[in-house]
Amino acid sequence: MSIVGLARPEIQALSAYDAAAQVDDTVRLNANESPQDSTVSNFRRPLNRYPEVRPRRLQEALAARFGCATEQLLVTRGSSEAIDLIILTFCRAGVDNIVIPSPSFSMYAHYAEVQGAPVITVPTLAEQDFRIDVDQLLDACNDATRVVFICSPNNPTGTAIARGDVLRLIEGRNGLSAVVVDEAYIEFGSGSSVMQLLDRYPNLLVLRTLSKALGFAGARCGAVAGSADVIRMLNAVQAPYALATPVVECVEDVLQSDQLAMAEQSVREIIQERERVTAVIANLEFVQKVWPSDANFFLVRVTDPASVMQRCEAHKVLLRSFGGALSNCIRITVGSRSDNDRLLQALNTLTANA
Ligand code: PMP
Repeated sequence: MSIVGLARPEIQALSAYDAAAQVDDTVRLNANESPQDSTVSNFRRPLNRYPEVRPRRLQEALAARFGCATEQLLVTRGSSEAIDLIILTFCRAGVDNIVIPSPSFSMYAHYAEVQGAPVITVPTLAEQDFRIDVDQLLDACNDATRVVFICSPNNPTGTAIARGDVLRLIEGRNGLSAVVVDEAYIEFGSGSSVMQLLDRYPNLLVLRTLSKALGFAGARCGAVAGSADVIRMLNAVQAPYALATPVVECVEDVLQSDQLAMAEQSVREIIQERERVTAVIANLEFVQKVWPSDANFFLVRVTDPASVMQRCEAHKVLLRSFGGALSNCIRITVGSRSDNDRLLQALNTLTANA
């Protein structure tokens, strides 16, 4: 059953922005652009012209890469923008809520707060490697729940969600809300994408990004995939011309070049490094636990997080610590071999002083 009817009524009625036509070999006096092209760079498209309202070739290339139909995908400014668009589309301020497991990526709650949408938080099972409890998530949903976000592999815990749990959640919310599966780190784990479930579940939305495994965080490019009718609504909410010409061309080039093979090699190295570094760190005396990770980071619990953070900072190595349910925990991104060696050196000085 389509979930279009669950969107904000004004968004259901919203048409996409009616942009000035862009036709080759015409005199374009319809968009108040400058006639003077820039000389500062060598883009294939003229910079004095607006980019396409939606970058069609890029949309096709990303849909092919991620395994969905072109009409099932919207290219976004990082997957962060997709989170924002989904909440804007489905949640009336002060009325419709989102349900999220905790701990998870903080942007879901952030954008809900920006929109004034209540956030219902469900703790994960800390003693079971932060597994999400699908029954608890389903129980936490109420009549005003419009979006459930899950992240697999999860940031900041690194844990992947079992396929059976994802399916049970999507089916449990069938016709009742969107279920967003954030796959920002999917390439670093052994699990497969849920993208191929899109045709079966009209309430499923999948987030992908070019910022992690592909190494293009600076380009700000990601995507949301879902049923074509939901993607049409998200498209109407997204700003026209959202993706700038330099970004579009850069990402088009990346997807055609040997950069992709390099990125795949880099993912293999990061996975190897993750295994190497976690094995060493697990043996340090001040480390109480290292959680298994399917991502390009891992979570550790230490006896004194402040001293670990400070010592690493003194060695010019930055880590991320958390409060709340994750107090005493530190998230460590897996870097290059030399980055990781620097981390291990810094941590070893703590052992030496202990
Ligand atoms: N989802 C998750 C789980 C993330 O960790 C991040 C970035 N840290 C994002 C989405 C957003 O990434 P981007 O906007 O760069 O695609």
